[in-house]
Amino acid sequence: MLVLGGTAEARRLAEALVDEDAVHVVSSLAGRVRSPALPPGEVRVGGFGGPEALAAHLREHRVAAVVDATHPFAATITAHAAQAAAETGTPLVVLRRPAWTASPGDRWHRVPTLDAAATALDDRRVTRGERVLLTTGRQGLAAFAGNRQWFLLRVVDPPEGPLPVRSRILRARGPFTLEGELWLMTTHGIDVVVTKDSGGDATSAKLAAARRLGRPVVVVDRPPLPPGVPSVADVADARRWLAANTAMGP
Ligand code: NAP
Repeated sequence: MLVLGGTAEARRLAEALVDEDAVHVVSSLAGRVRSPALPPGEVRVGGFGGPEALAAHLREHRVAAVVDATHPFAATITAHAAQAAAETGTPLVVLRRPAWTASPGDRWHRVPTLDAAATALDDRRVTRGERVLLTTGRQGLAAFAGNRQWFLLRVVDPPEGPLPVRSRILRARGPFTLEGELWLMTTHGIDVVVTKDSGGDATSAKLAAARRLGRPVVVVDRPPLPPGVPSVADVADARRWLAANTAMGP
C-alpha cells in the first residue's frame, strides 16, 4: 500500500494501517519540509521522477493500492498518481479533506488562483486596507511580488525567490488557535487575510479570527481532481474504500 503524504490525514491513515498485520504500508513524502512530522511505518522521501517513473515504481514494488492523501493544492502529484494508476491498473483513491464553507459574518472573496488573489488585494471592493496576512505557503509567493501592500508572510520554511517588497517573514507551523490568531492579527494591524482553501481544523482559526475582527478573507479555490478518480473525505472512509476495493477487503 502506497500512501502519498505530506498531510496530517496521511499520517493518521498510516497510523491506522500499520496496525493491520496484513498490510505493508509505505508513506511517500516529497521532501519539501526540512523536518517533517513523520508517519509510523516505512517512509520514502523525494519525487518519483514523473508519472512514468511512478508507474514503474508501482509495478516494481507490486503496490496493491495507492491512497493519494496529499494536500488539496498538490495538483501535480495528484495528476501523476491518476496517470500512473490508470496505466498500471492499480486501485487509487484520493483522500481529500472537505473544503471550508463560509459562516454568517464571513467576508470571503473566492478567487481561482494565487494570481487572482494578488489582483484582488488591489480591488477596493475587497479591501481598502493594506496590511495583509498571507498564509498560502512559501511556494507561489512570487505571485505577490508586484503588490504594493505590506505582507506578513507566514511560512513553515524560509521562502526562496521573489517576495513582495514590503514584507516580513513569520516562520510558524500549525495548528493555530483562535486566541493566537486574534493576537497576531491585532498586533500586526492586519486588514485582510489571504488563504488557500486547504480545509481542516489545523489552520482554520484564522478564518474565525477574521470573522471576529470583521476582516475580509481572500480564499483561493482548490484545483479540481482528475476526472474519474474516486475520493473520500476522511481516514475512516479511506479504510472502508480500501476494504471494499482492494485485496485488503473481506
Ligand atoms: P506538487 O506540486 O503536486 O508536486 C510536485 C512534485 O513533487 C511531484 O511531481 C512529485 O515529483 C513530487 N511530490 C509531491 N508530493 C509527493 C509525495 N507525497 N511523494 C513523492 N513525491 C511527491 O506538490 P506540492 O504542492 O509541491 O506539495 C509537495 C508536498 O507537500 C505534497 O506531498 C503535499 O501533500 C505537501 N503539502 C503541500 C501543500 C500545498 O499547499 N501545495 C501544503 C501542505 C503540504 P515527481 O514528479 O518527481 O514524482
